Amino acid sequence: MPARGDFRVSVTKDYLVFASAHFITFAGHRCEGLHGHNYRARVTVEGALNQESWFVFDFVELKKIMKRLCDDIDHLVLLPLRSDRIQVTEDSETVSVSVDGRPRYLFPRRDCALLPIPNTTVEMLARLLTTRLRAELEAGGATALTAIEMEVEENFGQTAVYRETLR
Ligand SMILES: [Zn+2]
Repeated sequence: MPARGDFRVSVTKDYLVFASAHFITFAGHRCEGLHGHNYRARVTVEGALNQESWFVFDFVELKKIMKRLCDDIDHLVLLPLRSDRIQVTEDSETVSVSVDGRPRYLFPRRDCALLPIPNTTVEMLARLLTTRLRAELEAGGATALTAIEMEVEENFGQTAVYRETLR
């Protein structure tokens, strides 16, 4: 009788990076100044073996999707749209950012990524990338996957991991 076990596959590549600017708010009134990181993503998917190909998921496809998701927010200012303290308003040309009601920054619209998250922490970025990856996988018919684990590193040895069970 064959041994039973589960499989997971991971990708992390030199090109699964995004060099982006951000600032976060902390509890109380603290708020960082604008700065940047060379973020790096690593993703793991779990699921049943495809009985024709004997893999969990095609690496080529997974890398392609992840590259696109990283490119979408590369070289941009990452701004949270669901913050209680950071107000982001946009018109066709510019994005205005206030913190606690005080004007703080004005950016060209094309240089900003407006994200549906409450704070641009690595935790929230990991969850956002998971949500976006999941949508792409579901659209592509990848129904045999059982979990996605997304790791985002913002500095050497400083990472957050988000894990989402798919069913
Ligand atoms: Zn930072």
